[in-house]
Amino acid sequence: MSDAASSRVVANRAPKRSIARKLAFLVTIAVMTSAMSMGCVLMWQVTRRYAETKSQSLFASAHVFASAAAQGVAARDQAAVYQAIKAIGRIPGLIYARVENNRGQLLAAMGGATQLDGDLRIKDGETLSISPFTVLSSRSIEVDVPIVNGGVNVGRFFLVADTNDLVSKLVDALEGTAIGAVVALAIGLLVTSRLQKSFTRPVLQLSETIWRIRRNHDYGDRVEAKSNDEVGLLIDGFNAMLEELEARDKSLDSHRRNLEREVNDRTRDLQDAKDVAENANAAKSDFLATMSHEIRTPMNGVMVMAELLAASDLPERQRRYAEVISKSGQSLLAIINDILDFSKIESGKLELERIALNPAELAEDVTSLFAARAREKDLDLIAYVSPATPRFISGDPIRINQIICNLVNNALKFTETGSVILKVGPDPKRPTRIRFAVTDTGIGIRAHKLKDIFSAFTQADQSTTRRFGGTGLGLAISKKLIDAMEGEIEVKSVYGRGSTFSFSIPSGAAEHADPWPRARQPGMTAVVAVKGEATRATLLRYLSEAGYEAAPANDGAAFTADVMIADPESVKDARRTEGGYLLCLATFGDPAAHRLVHDGLADAALSRPLRRSEIFKLLRRIRAGKKLEDTPDRRAARVEAPPRHEGLRVLVADDTAINREVAIETLQQLGAVVETAENGAEAIASVERQTFDVVLMDVSMPEVDGFEATRRIRDAEKAAGRHRLPIVAVTAHVVGDAADAWRKAGMDGVLYKPYTIQSLGECLSKFAPAEAVAAEGPVEQPSPVVGAPRDVASFATPLVNEEKLRELKLLSEDGPTPFLLRVLGLYLDHAPRSVAEMRRALAQQDVKAVGRAAHALKSMSLNIGVDRVVSIAEDIERRAAAPTPGITAEDLDNLDAVMGETLIIIRRFGPPGESGMQQSDQQAAALAKAG
Ligand code: ADP
Repeated sequence: MSDAASSRVVANRAPKRSIARKLAFLVTIAVMTSAMSMGCVLMWQVTRRYAETKSQSLFASAHVFASAAAQGVAARDQAAVYQAIKAIGRIPGLIYARVENNRGQLLAAMGGATQLDGDLRIKDGETLSISPFTVLSSRSIEVDVPIVNGGVNVGRFFLVADTNDLVSKLVDALEGTAIGAVVALAIGLLVTSRLQKSFTRPVLQLSETIWRIRRNHDYGDRVEAKSNDEVGLLIDGFNAMLEELEARDKSLDSHRRNLEREVNDRTRDLQDAKDVAENANAAKSDFLATMSHEIRTPMNGVMVMAELLAASDLPERQRRYAEVISKSGQSLLAIINDILDFSKIESGKLELERIALNPAELAEDVTSLFAARAREKDLDLIAYVSPATPRFISGDPIRINQIICNLVNNALKFTETGSVILKVGPDPKRPTRIRFAVTDTGIGIRAHKLKDIFSAFTQADQSTTRRFGGTGLGLAISKKLIDAMEGEIEVKSVYGRGSTFSFSIPSGAAEHADPWPRARQPGMTAVVAVKGEATRATLLRYLSEAGYEAAPANDGAAFTADVMIADPESVKDARRTEGGYLLCLATFGDPAAHRLVHDGLADAALSRPLRRSEIFKLLRRIRAGKKLEDTPDRRAARVEAPPRHEGLRVLVADDTAINREVAIETLQQLGAVVETAENGAEAIASVERQTFDVVLMDVSMPEVDGFEATRRIRDAEKAAGRHRLPIVAVTAHVVGDAADAWRKAGMDGVLYKPYTIQSLGECLSKFAPAEAVAAEGPVEQPSPVVGAPRDVASFATPLVNEEKLRELKLLSEDGPTPFLLRVLGLYLDHAPRSVAEMRRALAQQDVKAVGRAAHALKSMSLNIGVDRVVSIAEDIERRAAAPTPGITAEDLDNLDAVMGETLIIIRRFGPPGESGMQQSDQQAAALAKAG
């Protein structure tokens, strides 16, 4: 309770009717009552005494006058009678006298007072029995005595006196009583006030103390006990109670302190234990990093050499050996990668990207990737993408890809016959999420094993390890990644029948689905005659979702329809009519379908695993009534040999001879001209002496290591005004502090050991494209756009201002210049990172850092005319600098969405047939796989 409130309570506590007043009232009543009753008694006595004395004196006077008048009465001498009673007139109080004879005849009378009937008449000797009431109500008293003369009764004498003097006597008496009463009252009140003080003061004190204690919670407070009466007892009791309370408080307090001490002790113990565990964990991570370095470096030699060996002119058997070495190396690497990945996630070093990605493409890329595996085991593998799937979601493509790959890999691993289908679509339970589900017809998992399946190093059946291999880490890693994405993974399985692993993740700033290509008119028919349960079902679904009446063909029976999809073997059963289309679905790489198209037996060829975009393209053309040209199979181009780098000058700095050997051999295979340096100092000298297009710099070298060498080269470049030489770190360090050191040292990228010819080739394309000529100048160009104020991005602002790019001669009829391509490549790499940085900063509420990242994004975007991103970034930068910055996650979602669209357009600038996206994704995937 606050002080104000409690004092209000105390104020309210002042008694409404105080004891003092009550006492005074009672005393007054008592005194008045007793005074009144005393007054009555007094009046009674005064009246009685008055009646007595009055009547006695009246009788005495009457006897005197009766004897004086006796002779006159006996002689019937009226004059003598008068004479005898004449003196009566002079006696005060007597108002009437009468003398009667024996026979009651009036002889003489004096005075003239009228006597009422009720007035008091007293006979001689009756005086004692007179009631004071009669006296009070009567205005006069009459007495009569016999007149005796010589022993003979001769008449009667009557005498009347008034009672007026009684009133004054009564008044006197009452006055006395009143004075007495007043004195008594005064004394009474005085006593009361004394009493009240000695009684109520301690009580008031007590109540004040109670309220003070309530306010201050100070149970050490006491009431002073002065009296040893009942109040004193009460106060003593109260003080005793306070003492008990205080004692209890103290024991509670000490108990609490004990508990606190205990909790502190335990917390410290726990903290110590945690520190020990964390240190152990850090040591484990470091150990893993070191181990990986130690294993990867020699493995680099093994794998590259085996690769080269397998590619060389060798007898068949030896080549097989070389291939086995290479394959074993790859699986060993996969296991090491799993363990590294897991420990990286465990140690909290996982960072997720959030960029726009196309879920359908992502899923179908995975099925393409695993097509060969599926074919080897004769399994039917396909992805089904539901029509409601958003075109873009925001997420981490590499990690999502990793999860799907793991699920599909498992499904293929644990399935001997049947099919594996990967379904993509909005989560039916939560529409803001996207769900990927992999269903197989494999061995299934026993119900009691299901709950542990996502724990690390868990395998449903130990015998599977022997049969199928694996570490039991894949699902644990997937689960951790999905948890980090705030998603959920679940599994349903029937032992011996198959399993479904599905996960759903928030789709973020999702973009709406592509419109489905519709059949030209309702009632058009489609027949599917392909083998493979999953592919058939998926095709039927796609066709009926497009508005066709779709049905499977009966085995071996002839069929006809508006659209027919058939295996090469079933094409013979199709009865093509005028206007009907026949699409032949063949295994990837099987020329049969193309031959059939060539021979005019089919209209178009499709290859397994079928991609939704391919069938859509054909359905659109069918709707438009166009001829279906054979779509060249682009996936063939994707697995081509690594890009060549004829004449590219590469400096390899590495202290290990075998590594240099491997690098020289590999680079020469790619057409590069190679120089080597054995340590950092030599590398610096070579760079001074000669011109290179790129440097591959091993980071751990004796004396001058790769970081130091790079720093010195960068300093020298700056001093001499030379352009920046691309330097790529070559390292096997993937976790720990070293993972990011290359960036700090001023290197342009990193190539993880062990590398393959493919990844080395891609690395060279990225950091030193063959077209790039050294004289092209720095990448960071001054902004070509003058900073006129712009409004926040509206849809009128172009995503990419191609006109501007043309003006700057960066874009021509032949497409983008190599320079633009390189800058775009950099942009693809850097822009999403800026957005990720903004998110990180916003999460930490570091608005300044958000502003900085927005500025960085703006300036890199200005160079290549991505105007809408520029506007949004500029707006965020401006708002970050405002006195009350109000930047929300929604702003960043918006930026993400626009960025996603922009990146798609940028990727389209890439040379046809080899879209920039796949290129960079593959690189990124390769890098991520390696670390
Ligand atoms: P790994 O496959 O490397 O052993 P995972 O974590 O990916 O590790 O899988 C753990 C275990 O779960 C597997 O060993 C297997 O017993 C079981 N499992 C995973 N996927 C399937 C599947 N599709 N069908 C049957 N069992 C599976």
